[in-house]
Amino acid sequence: MMTVEEFAAKIRESNEIVIFTGAGISTESGIPDFRSPGGLWSRYRPVTFQEFMGSEAARIEAWKRRLETYEAHKNARPNIGHYFVQSLDQKGKLIGLITQNVDGLHSEAGLEDNKIVELHGNNRRIVCLQCDKFFEPEEVIKRLVGDFSSPKCDACGGILKSATVSFGQAMPQAAMQQAQEWSELAAVFMVMGSSLQVQPAASFPVFAKRNGALLAIINREPTPLDEYADFVHHGAIGEFCGRFGEMIADG
Ligand code: NAD
Repeated sequence: MMTVEEFAAKIRESNEIVIFTGAGISTESGIPDFRSPGGLWSRYRPVTFQEFMGSEAARIEAWKRRLETYEAHKNARPNIGHYFVQSLDQKGKLIGLITQNVDGLHSEAGLEDNKIVELHGNNRRIVCLQCDKFFEPEEVIKRLVGDFSSPKCDACGGILKSATVSFGQAMPQAAMQQAQEWSELAAVFMVMGSSLQVQPAASFPVFAKRNGALLAIINREPTPLDEYADFVHHGAIGEFCGRFGEMIADG
């Protein structure tokens, strides 16, 4: 296993870095993850895509949960972890960022869209599942008052849903392909804040490593791929990026 100094030297010399982020990079912005104690999974089982499509009650339940987290998500701002990724791009070191997150905070930190693959979509947009028309969340959320029914498209009457990928829903093909290509090109593949338990997303680090990339994992808790990695740090992303950002500053 590499030391942090050795890993910093690799980052300083490499211009072929791919970053892979999960919910853990956004907890310090006030958005809970799924699998930490107190995370969303300890409170709710997710509404699957099949349930959402098949039942008005499930749709209402999903929108009620969205209402509950809406203000926190809307007010969340990027943190040092998101800015760390953006700074690698500014230095010309980043091939791309693959994220499982739907919160849009990497974009808000200033990373260009063509450097971001959102494997699970984005909750800052709402889409009609019938005609693909997009809606601003604000516009749809304000319809959810009292004993509301699930919102429908004003153009075609279709079912509206967050532009995110639910459990049971097909992965976006273009995003999967771009993630695969970047993973193949990576000289360094760095995971930040993912439990690496959700497939197919967790297959990218394995794929990158098999293609010769150095694999680094920064996460508060152990992951199933720690033994396979070249560098592992167990701790908070904010604290790590503060120190590590200084170590690579002259690179
Ligand atoms: P996860 O919840 O499975 O795992 C998050 C990991 O991050 C955990 O292992 C935890 O120990 C670690 N972690 C939490 N805070 C940390 C911190 N400050 N520093 C270092 N590590 C920290 O998340 P996942 O792997 O992304 O998978 C969950 C799924 O849920 C994803 O598919 C994602 O789409 C979705 N999700 C997204 C958001 C978001 O957009 N912010 C939030 C919750 C869930």
